[in-house]
Amino acid sequence: MIIICDKKHLYKIILEERKTMRKIVLLAIFSISLISNTYAKEINIFSARHYDSDIQLYAKFTAKTGIKVNVVSGKDKALTKRIEEEGESCVGDLYITADAGRLGAAESKGMFQIVSSKTLKQKIPSNFRSPYWFGIAKRARVIFYATDRLNKSDLRNLSYEDLGDPKWNGKIVIRQSNNVYNQSLVASLIENNGAKETATWAKELVANMARPSKGNDRAQILAVAAGEAELAVANTYYIALMLSGKKGEEQKAAAQKVKPLFPNQGNRGTHMNISGGGVLKYSPNKENAIKLLEFLLTDEAQKHIVNNTYEYPIVDTVEPNKLIAQFGLDFKQDLKTKVSSYGKRQAEALKIMTEAGWQ
Ligand code: FE
Repeated sequence: MIIICDKKHLYKIILEERKTMRKIVLLAIFSISLISNTYAKEINIFSARHYDSDIQLYAKFTAKTGIKVNVVSGKDKALTKRIEEEGESCVGDLYITADAGRLGAAESKGMFQIVSSKTLKQKIPSNFRSPYWFGIAKRARVIFYATDRLNKSDLRNLSYEDLGDPKWNGKIVIRQSNNVYNQSLVASLIENNGAKETATWAKELVANMARPSKGNDRAQILAVAAGEAELAVANTYYIALMLSGKKGEEQKAAAQKVKPLFPNQGNRGTHMNISGGGVLKYSPNKENAIKLLEFLLTDEAQKHIVNNTYEYPIVDTVEPNKLIAQFGLDFKQDLKTKVSSYGKRQAEALKIMTEAGWQ
């Protein structure tokens, strides 16, 4: 209880109360900004890309921005299932994965939200993005041959369509139909040649296989190097990975025996795909997610990606790694076929492949 003796004393008490109030208000403002600051200073990435180098790249982003990056890694199916099941309570901000087919599938499940970013629009060619997801690196799915048995002139103007030619009977290896890279390739063929023609082609290709499909992309390249087949279908970055020695001396030696051939140079160009990401529908840190996507398109980040994964950069201000650039950079890329069609035609592609007996 305060006893007031005179006017002077009363004035002093009011002043002290005001000071305390001000302290309380200041403390409250400070706490709120502290809370919102810790909240604003992080981002949760769900990633189906299996590269340790991505983690190092996120660390560079943190060093630059002070935004902490939490990564949940996993396989595409498990992660998309989790994101879907958790719905509004999912803490994920960004989903990053390989293959436009997967990005398209995630988009059609309603996993992403529309993002409008000038930087992303400017830096990513329109074919390699949608309003929902954005390419961060390119990959080409090509044909590999052994240089001691075939040469480039034997393969001039070779196209994916030619893989159905009886001339290649018992000579082709390619991985299984459950692989999304193959589903996207077949989707692009449906997009260009129609379902009927592609179904016929798939049957012819299966008849030309040197063995029932098995193994990953590197296993196909190894089969050609070992003389078990003449042509292998695989993504370009795998040959560079093998040549780098990171997969052991044996694979390095095998890779030195083969070369990539860029198909469809006489018409629409080589089948292109992307790694990419999209901001999740219920992202709690949307601004940071966009910031991170924009960071991935900087020259610094693009250099980091291409020198670790051997993919092609998505921006033209950065060169691919030497191990991949040596095979030529002037090949014609298929920029006509929308990569967004891969996801849309995924189910149709798988059906055609399965019906053709493609394991
Ligand atoms: Fe891969």
